[in-house]
Amino acid sequence: MNGKEFDPGLENDGPLTCHDCQGGLQEYLDGTLAKKQSLRFFLHLRDCSDCQENHATMQGLFEMLDTLPACEVPADFDDAILASVPYASYKEMEPLRRERVPVYLEEHFLPQLVRSRVTRWSGLGVTIASVVAAVALDGPAWLPISAAVGLVPELLVRLQGLGRRVVSMGSAGRAES
Ligand SMILES: [Zn+2]
Repeated sequence: MNGKEFDPGLENDGPLTCHDCQGGLQEYLDGTLAKKQSLRFFLHLRDCSDCQENHATMQGLFEMLDTLPACEVPADFDDAILASVPYASYKEMEPLRRERVPVYLEEHFLPQLVRSRVTRWSGLGVTIASVVAAVALDGPAWLPISAAVGLVPELLVRLQGLGRRVVSMGSAGRAES
């Protein structure tokens, strides 16, 4: 039906109403109802001529559908559809086709200040200077900290890039399988 399993009041053991019976007839015919529910349908259908009629109609329809020959899809089906889509619309759908990544992996998730080349390079400069000072000059104890802080912008940008690559590799793998 709509992918949602029909539930004619599972907590309700009493007789089925006509409304619930109509709503779940397809599941009943498919045999996808739980045993107890199936029995409720059986009992209702035994006593209700209206629902019996619907049941018979639906069963007839299903049987007829089963006898229909399987339909072959023409070989050029995909091409025909693609050819019928104007290029402008295809372009417009670009954002939909693009790889979906979690928001924290999107570039603009990081503030422009962090992403900017100047910040990243200055950060690296601070790191290098701090390391040099710490090693060569036996500088103060906060030097390793400033060395680490200098790495942060570059590290964040690189981790994001790595994350995006992992995500798109993952979905490429899924698309292949
Ligand atoms: Zn009924």
